[in-house]
Order: sequence, then structure tokens, then C-alpha cells
Amino acid sequence: TGAGTQGPIYVAGHRGMVGAAILRALQAAGRQDILTRTHAELDLTDQAAVEAFFAEQRPAQVYLAAARVGGIHANDSYPAEFIYQNLMIEANIIHAAWRQGVERLLFLGSSCIYPRLAEQPMAESALLTGTLEPTNEPYAIAKIAGIKLCESYNRQYGIDFRSVMPTNLYGPGDNFDLANSHVIPALLRKVHQAKQTGAAEVEVWGSGRPRREFLHVDDMAAACLHVMGLDRETWRDHTDPRCSHINVGTGEDVTIAELARAIADVVGFDGQIRFDPAKPDGAPRKLLDVSRLRALGWQAVIGLREGLKHTYDWFLNNQDRLR
Ligand code: GDP
Repeated sequence: TGAGTQGPIYVAGHRGMVGAAILRALQAAGRQDILTRTHAELDLTDQAAVEAFFAEQRPAQVYLAAARVGGIHANDSYPAEFIYQNLMIEANIIHAAWRQGVERLLFLGSSCIYPRLAEQPMAESALLTGTLEPTNEPYAIAKIAGIKLCESYNRQYGIDFRSVMPTNLYGPGDNFDLANSHVIPALLRKVHQAKQTGAAEVEVWGSGRPRREFLHVDDMAAACLHVMGLDRETWRDHTDPRCSHINVGTGEDVTIAELARAIADVVGFDGQIRFDPAKPDGAPRKLLDVSRLRALGWQAVIGLREGLKHTYDWFLNNQDRLR
């Protein structure tokens, strides 16, 4: 998408949940000239390899969905890997994309870039106004660096690299590993197992009180194509001159306790939900202000219930492919 694009579209991270959804959306939109590379084929932390790939393939557009991601426990356990790998991937791709004249690039960030106690809902302008949530600070710092790379290259070289900041994402292709995943796949799996084994209760981390906003990954992919397709003037008019990022969310949040109950409903588990306050809560609330994206003509369409059901169906049908 995007008018007058000559050359292929590179989706970095097409095996991840978000990259795979972007790939499906591009294919559904009839795009055929899509470039992908597996991790084994191209190590994105290897600058020389990334430079060579861009020089050879000359993509016209790039979706930068490659990242080292994980839930609250993974972020807390592997901080060095989270900051190093994400910084390297972003720096290598953004620099190579500029060098090879990529027309447009979309960098995918995260809502954890905003301060832990940012005013809710969090507007784009909340960036760098306060202290970050410590459980995922290294990851957040890397994602902030990605935004600033895009902004700086835009300023110095007059190019058109954009950033989208999704709220907590979930959907088909998610990581269902109990220790390292985010809350939705973790609870779908735990509740499913509890139902299967006839357990009386299921354990949910933390107090149940944190509030989170959840966006289905197919909505996220649609938003990415929408933002990528906006002409430069429309995009510029709706973002700060120096600010290349825009929030992507539903505009609605739920407590973790409400989420756990909704998941129990979808799975059909009627046992108890028990909270474990010894586990971390993370940020008290993360709700994005999505008015800017709405003004640019995009809005989420997949409700949480429907999205959870769809994701649970995917989980049931892909038991052999679960990460
Ligand atoms: P966060 O938004 O960065 O905190 O990412 P997560 O998706 O990992 O966690 C969201 C919230 O869900 C936190 O308050 C967690 O403590 C809570 N939570 C409850 N049970 C679980 C679980 O089994 N796994 C994960 N990852 N989080 C859980």
C-alpha cells in the first residue's frame, strides 16, 4: 500500500505474532512482492548481514516488526537480551533502510515506552515525561531508541519513517509458554489446563487490580497498513513536527481480574480464580489515548470477547505449533 511504491515490501519479523499478521494483511490486500527472511537466513543483530540484505533486495517499504518480546517475567529475567537485541535490530534495519533509500518504514514500538505513572489515557506527548516501569525498563528504553532513530533520521535526512505504539497485543501465533508469555496466552493455557485436569482453581499473578488495554493482532496489522498508506501531508498534519509515533489501541481497558473471568467464560472453566500477590503487578494502568489515530480514520473492530474466543480456537487447533 502507499501510492507510487516501486519495489518490494520487507516484513521484518514475519514469524512473530505481529509480523505474521502484517504478512496476512498484505497478502489479503493483494500484495505479492513481499520479502521475508527467517532468523536462520538473516540475523538482524548482524549489521553486515543486514546491510548486504538491503543492498541486494532494495525494498521500497519496511515493516519493522522484528523484536525480542515477552511478558513481565521474561522482561525481568533477561534484561540484557531485551535491551541488546532490540537496539541492534532497530539500529541495523533503520540505518540500512536509510542507506538504501527505503521510501517508507514503519517501526513497531510498545505502550511500555510511556512513564509508569503517566496520566491516563496516555497521549503520544507523554513520552519521556517521567520514570519508566522497572519490570520492563530495558525493553522500553530500546523501543524509545527506535522512535528516536526514526525521528532523527527524518530530521537529518528528510525521510519518512513512522512509528506505531501498540497497546498489549494478543491473538493467533502468540507465545503460549507459561513462564515467558504475556497475560492472555498464559491465562488461556492455564485455564484450559485447569479445565482439562478438573482442577478446582487457577492461579493468576499479582493482585488482579492492574488495568490493561488489549488489542487483537489482526486489528494491529490493519492499523499498520492504514498508517503506512497515509500520504505524507496527512500524516504530518496529525503528528508533532518532531514526533513520528502514534498510539494504536482500542481505547478501552479491563482489570486483570475481569480478564481472567472473561477467559474462564470463553474456555468454559467454572472453578475458582486465585490471585498470587507474591507475583508482580507491573504498571498499575496502561490505557492509550487513541484520538490521533481515530482522527486519521482508523478504529479497532475486534471486541475482547470475540478476540479471546478466536485466540482460544487457534490455541486448540494449533497444539502442535505452540511456542
Ligand atoms: P505487562 O503489561 O508488561 O505487565 O505484561 P503482561 O502481559 O506480562 O502482564 C500483565 C498483567 O497481568 C500483570 O499485572 C501480570 O502480573 C498479570 N498476570 C496475571 N497472571 C499472569 C500470567 O500468568 N502471566 C503473565 N505474563 N501475566 C500475568
